[in-house]
Amino acid sequence: MEVYKGSSSYKGIAIGKIAEMKKASAVVRRTHVEDIEAEIRRYHEAKDMAQAEIMDLHAKALKEVGEAQAEIFEVHAMFLDEFDDSVENIIREQGVNAEFAVAETADNTAAMLAAMDDNPYMQARQTDVRDVAERVIRDLNGGSGDSNNFTEQVILIADDLAPSETVQLDKTMVLAFVTREGSTNSHTAILARTMNIPALCQTPVPAEADGKQGIVDGFTGQVFVDPDEATLEKYLKLREAEEEKQKLLKELKGKDTVTKSGRKVKLYANIGGIGDVGFVLENDAAGVGLFRSEFLYLQSGDFPSEEEQFKAYRQVAEMLGGREVVVRTLDIGADKQIDYFGLDREDNPALGYRAIRICLTREDIFRTQLRALYRASAYGNIDIMFPMITSVWEVERARQLCEDVKAELTAEHIDFKDVPIGIMIETPAAVLIADELAELVDFFSIGTNDLTQYTLAIDRQNQKLDRFFDAHHPAVLRAIRMTIEAGHRHNTWVGICGELGADPDLTESFVNWGIDELSMSPSSILPVRKIIRDMD
Ligand code: PEP
Ligand code: MG
Repeated sequence: MEVYKGSSSYKGIAIGKIAEMKKASAVVRRTHVEDIEAEIRRYHEAKDMAQAEIMDLHAKALKEVGEAQAEIFEVHAMFLDEFDDSVENIIREQGVNAEFAVAETADNTAAMLAAMDDNPYMQARQTDVRDVAERVIRDLNGGSGDSNNFTEQVILIADDLAPSETVQLDKTMVLAFVTREGSTNSHTAILARTMNIPALCQTPVPAEADGKQGIVDGFTGQVFVDPDEATLEKYLKLREAEEEKQKLLKELKGKDTVTKSGRKVKLYANIGGIGDVGFVLENDAAGVGLFRSEFLYLQSGDFPSEEEQFKAYRQVAEMLGGREVVVRTLDIGADKQIDYFGLDREDNPALGYRAIRICLTREDIFRTQLRALYRASAYGNIDIMFPMITSVWEVERARQLCEDVKAELTAEHIDFKDVPIGIMIETPAAVLIADELAELVDFFSIGTNDLTQYTLAIDRQNQKLDRFFDAHHPAVLRAIRMTIEAGHRHNTWVGICGELGADPDLTESFVNWGIDELSMSPSSILPVRKIIRDMD
């Protein structure tokens, strides 16, 4: 038995035959051509064919994995359009064949993307550029490619998988994806998550594993090749237990989150971006209680424009079709640093310049985000939430900026909704003045991660202090209860979106204290629903 360790992109257990992905061989030779114009025409014919194939893939992905994931094929179409100048130039200047000009163009574009060290998203697009080039080269050669039509279910191994390859596969035949390269940020990883198939990347399984028996453990990121008897037995049991758990939980899908005596709780999901929306739907969350919008900024090489943000918020709102989506405005600083913000080094970053404090001193950045949010509000059910509030004036100023933005949009005849406004309660100051704050907002969401950090004066990043970091500390629990009571005195609904919201040992207490909403990672939704439905 051999064991290989990689990074997990999606959890789950798969047992079956390993199959190496077959790729069309793409050896491109440089040949000299006499008729330059005919070669350019040949390129355009192949390009048109490739464009049509990409559109077909887009339609297939739209049907199978939704609009956000299908968008990568629009990116492919765009990359392909960008090829023209360079390909024609190489054919003309060097008098060479179209295949070579396309391969050369792809190499140059990939090298440019590889150099984007500060933009992991664009870096990861190298695979897409090569995928597009291989498609055109295949079409130049008459469109032949290797097929991967499996007759039995397999654990699929590849160096890397392009999104087009992932979508083209018959997913009922794939037990797991394992790639030697790739990142958990890649679209293939996102597609695997959406398709609900265990996936690992950066796992060095050798080509010789092809055809052998394998086990993929998506929880630990391990692959076992030719497992021994004891390992196989252990994993057969684990897989059975996992299937049983999934089955039980699936029975709770579509059911209300309500106690036997009729107390209802909204169970919402925490997300970092569009890529997580599939899980929200899959796990039957009633909405999104925390969209950490800073991920849009973290994934970008520069301040995301109003248009980019508008598109992201609108897509999430549309995909969630009317479900409530609480978008938290930018919360960077402390552990989330972004170079292009040019923030100074601080001795106490957790107590420093972060979240709403940045937004209220850099109002230009904040206004851009608010405009994008209000514009997107016309397309769904968006709420806006401000992080790290400690004072009444901060809420008043943030609300004033919302009013300014609304007035601007009205003057520009742009549609928006008068969205509910809420704040995070994650500082002891906010808990102590919760009555005053509740007068100003529609809802509270308790951020128990920071509330624990600030209540206990313990840096949440410092592993050495784990022993002292006790989210169940009576002071933290009392702060939560006080917040719920203060909110309810003023008709303000109260939720929890920190990690404690999914803590099964506290669910009953939260419900008994009258919590209105719990927001958590999507995979915790159904287990928490079960606890609530079992309560009297
Ligand atoms: C929290 O502090 O509990 C919270 C949800 O915010 P974050 O973890 O993003 O700081
Ligand atoms: Mg927080």
